[in-house]
Amino acid sequence: MLNIVIFGPPGCGKGTQSARLTKKYNLVHLSTGDVIRKEIKSGSDFGLQLSSIVEKGELVPYELIIKILESALAQNRSSSGFIFDGFPRTIDQAIDLDKILAKDNQAISMVVSLCIHDEKVVERLLNRAKIEGRKDDTEDVIKNRLRVYKEQTCPLIDFYRKQGKYVEVDGDCGIDDIFCQISKIVDSKEVA
Ligand code: AMP
Repeated sequence: MLNIVIFGPPGCGKGTQSARLTKKYNLVHLSTGDVIRKEIKSGSDFGLQLSSIVEKGELVPYELIIKILESALAQNRSSSGFIFDGFPRTIDQAIDLDKILAKDNQAISMVVSLCIHDEKVVERLLNRAKIEGRKDDTEDVIKNRLRVYKEQTCPLIDFYRKQGKYVEVDGDCGIDDIFCQISKIVDSKEVA
C-alpha cells in the first residue's frame, strides 16, 4: 500500500494536490477537514459542536478526530492506499496513526510537505474566502490557524524526518509543476 501524508500550512494546496494524486495512484483521499465540514453542514448536534471550534481556527479534540480516522480506514480496507490530508496535525495523532496502520501491517510511506511563505498563505486563503466562503478563512482566524500550525503541527517535521520519510516540495509554483515534483518523488520511492 502507498500511504502518503500531504503536509503543509493551511492554503498550501494540499487539497488540490491530493485530488490529483488520488486519481493517478488510485488512492483514497482522507481529508479530516472535509469530513468535519460535511458534518457541520448536516446540521447535527455533533456538527454544531465542531463548528464552534473550527470557526476559531482551533484543533478539534483528539478523541473525535481519531473516530473519524478509524471509521474512514475501516470503510476502505480494500484500497491500494491513502492520502492523509490535514491529518496528522499533532505528534499524538501521528503516533496513533502509526499504531492503527501497524495493526494492518501498514505504515506511512512518505510525508510530502508543500512549502510556502506565511504572507502567501494569508493571500491565498483570503482569495479562497471570496470563492468558497469558508468561515475559517477570515484574516484573524487564518492568523490563528497559522499559529496553531506552527505550535502543534510543525513538530511533526522532525518526527517524520527522523524516520527518513519527510520530503519537501516548493509549494509556491504552478499546480502542474508541484504535481510533477510530487509524482517524481512518489515514483522513485515506489521503485526503491
Ligand atoms: P483543514 O480543512 O484541514 O484546514 O481543516 C479545517 C479545520 O478542521 C481545522 O482548522 C481544524 O479546526 C479542524 N481539523 C481538521 N483536521 C484536524 C485534525 N487532524 N485535528 C484537529 N482538528 C482538525
